[in-house]
Amino acid sequence: MQLRYGFRLYPSAGQRTALAQAFGCARVVYNDALRARETARAAGLPFPTAGELSKRLITKAKRTPERAWLSEVSVVVLQQSLRDLEAAYRNFFDGLAGRRPRMGAPRYKSKRDTRQAVRFTANARWSITPGGRLRLPKIGDLKVKWSRSLPSAPSTVTVVQDSAGRYFASFTVETGPEEVLPETSPEVGIDLGLGHFAVLSDGTKIDSPRFLRRAEKRLRKAQRDLSRKERGSRNRDKARIRVARAHAKVADARREFHHQLSTKLIRENQAVAVEDLCVKGLARTRLARSVHDAGWSAFVAMLEYKAARYGRTFVRIGRFEPTSQVCSACGVKDGPKPLHVRVWTCPACGAVLDRDINAAVNVARAAGLAVSARGALVRRAPVPAPRGEAGTHPKQPTQPVWEQAGIPGP
Ligand SMILES: [Zn+2]
Repeated sequence: MQLRYGFRLYPSAGQRTALAQAFGCARVVYNDALRARETARAAGLPFPTAGELSKRLITKAKRTPERAWLSEVSVVVLQQSLRDLEAAYRNFFDGLAGRRPRMGAPRYKSKRDTRQAVRFTANARWSITPGGRLRLPKIGDLKVKWSRSLPSAPSTVTVVQDSAGRYFASFTVETGPEEVLPETSPEVGIDLGLGHFAVLSDGTKIDSPRFLRRAEKRLRKAQRDLSRKERGSRNRDKARIRVARAHAKVADARREFHHQLSTKLIRENQAVAVEDLCVKGLARTRLARSVHDAGWSAFVAMLEYKAARYGRTFVRIGRFEPTSQVCSACGVKDGPKPLHVRVWTCPACGAVLDRDINAAVNVARAAGLAVSARGALVRRAPVPAPRGEAGTHPKQPTQPVWEQAGIPGP
């Protein structure tokens, strides 16, 4: 798996000039390629291939007086810039096709963008000198603040300048599963819902911890205070700073919660299954805000990399698995149910099922995990209930909460 390690860089004045030139050249090639593709599209022609763009916008362009200065930077930086554009288009089209969250079309880069970056792959022959400096082609040996050690030799380095003018090196390191945990037997499916942050196939329901809810409450209050302050006043400035701090606190608390929960799930289970988030289709509804606030994708990404790191199985089940429509006790499909239906009765076998836990069991099953439907059963009816009764049960009191997941609050 790939891990990233970031370190602060302290380039000299000359190196800063060389980096600015590299950022500029990478940006120009990116924008040229974007223009070439958009021109082709407007003319109804097929997109030029990556190979064509590389030949036209790098190799040939260098021989023209307008773009001769491109040869002053490493060609790898320019090729990587073309790859970035490819990736931006791929993500855009995947978003349109529903394979990932929707995002905007690639846009032209500007000198005034808050983040400038160039990437050097192994082909660029960059290196770390015996004296611990980062040697970059056509830029020089840069001073690095090594705040921790790298687990193995990195393959790629990205040099970034942020909006505050600071420089960072981000190294990509390939690591094996060296931290594999001893094998365990439980396997679990997770339903990421709206009522609870997560519901597990064993029946556990997990809500956001108190420390996160408190931080969110403080943020809402700070935002209300800000909206009441007069424009241009000093008090408004102060309120704005308070909002910014509260925002950062919420983000930190949420990340902490995701880390604790994902570590616990990966430690305690040999296999973990989740539903692909774009399948849920919730992000397109008016519930979008709470979905994004719940930060599921960040959480799922943590589950995925921790599973790889600790030798566990992570499965993301694909589209069109009707997890909330199938009875996990007998497997009969019962059709869609409105969101307010939290408990329903299977018309075929009469089992009374908790909607979320039933979905979590189905997620685990669709991923091929061995889980029982026991957790999803609210009660088992002796005779099949008539069809009209399905979905008419009142909302059950919510039982296991955050504390029952066994994760200590602050
Ligand atoms: Zn059933």
